[in-house]
Amino acid sequence: MKCTRCRAKAEVHLRAHNAGFCRPCYLTYFRRQVERAIAGDRMCITAERVLVAVSGGKDSLALWDVLIDLGYQTTGLYLAQGIGGYSDRSRQKVEAFASARALPLRVVDLADEGPGLAIPDVAALTRRSACSACGMLKRHFFDEAALAGEFDVLATGHNLDDEAARLLGNVLRWQVDHLVRQRPVLPPTHPRFVRKVKPLHLLSEYETAVYAFMRGIDYVVEECPNSVGATQLLYKDALNRLEAASPGTKLAFVREFHRRGQPAITARAEDDQRPPQTCARCGMPSWGDVCAFCKLVAEIETKRARGVTGPAA
Ligand code: SF4
Ligand SMILES: [Zn+2]
Ligand SMILES: [Zn+2]
Repeated sequence: MKCTRCRAKAEVHLRAHNAGFCRPCYLTYFRRQVERAIAGDRMCITAERVLVAVSGGKDSLALWDVLIDLGYQTTGLYLAQGIGGYSDRSRQKVEAFASARALPLRVVDLADEGPGLAIPDVAALTRRSACSACGMLKRHFFDEAALAGEFDVLATGHNLDDEAARLLGNVLRWQVDHLVRQRPVLPPTHPRFVRKVKPLHLLSEYETAVYAFMRGIDYVVEECPNSVGATQLLYKDALNRLEAASPGTKLAFVREFHRRGQPAITARAEDDQRPPQTCARCGMPSWGDVCAFCKLVAEIETKRARGVTGPAA
């Protein structure tokens, strides 16, 4: 196959786009897709300060790399979750990426926060699943870091496969409130929130992997051990089968949801959308008197004071 742009020998074939690219043209294509997503959804401008949440995986490091290339002022944010060797290895990748490029990086170590919030401890003490504890803590510390550092915008590396799987999950249960909030740009709904953006939301996992490979980005290949058996993976598998039979399905599913599905749902749901209140304990946005994070911390403090250590691992 020949490169769609320059007719040289193609190194990558994108069935969803019915296009092939040589290496230089692929890198140009990828950057343009990100540029178009940012401009099309007014995610951010180069004068703004962007906090990039990085996990050490290919998507978030590819995002950081391309944002720098596009001229954005970025700082990385890494949340050390305390998930054994996986967290150690992912932290190493993030730190090596940042130091090789002399980029600013903030690290939040959950074990050092509040009463000690490493994911396995929180999950054991509160009997939540690791992923539910992790999701909530990520939201809290991302918001807090963005606010403390006076960033204009928080960028995450969610790709098309992530968004399609999330959309499928939300549609299967018709979770209208989740569908309303599943956007590539979330404007702040509280003075202590910053805008949240997903510049890779229309680029597939395969496309970001190819970009990371071509750019020589050294990322953590293993998945978080808690992702094994996650429903999200089942949805991804189902979508991959649909994609193999009909290339472009995932892109159409997500893109047309944003173009047509979401505006229709949002218009109906708008009356139900109330802005968050303010947490009486920490002052961050909250859906009740006290936010979910402060409730979790209070629960852990009480259990630690009573000497509860949680079930043996
Ligand atoms: S798989 Fe679960 S625990 Fe692991 S990073 Fe994802 S949400 Fe967190
Ligand atoms: Zn080419
Ligand atoms: Zn709070």
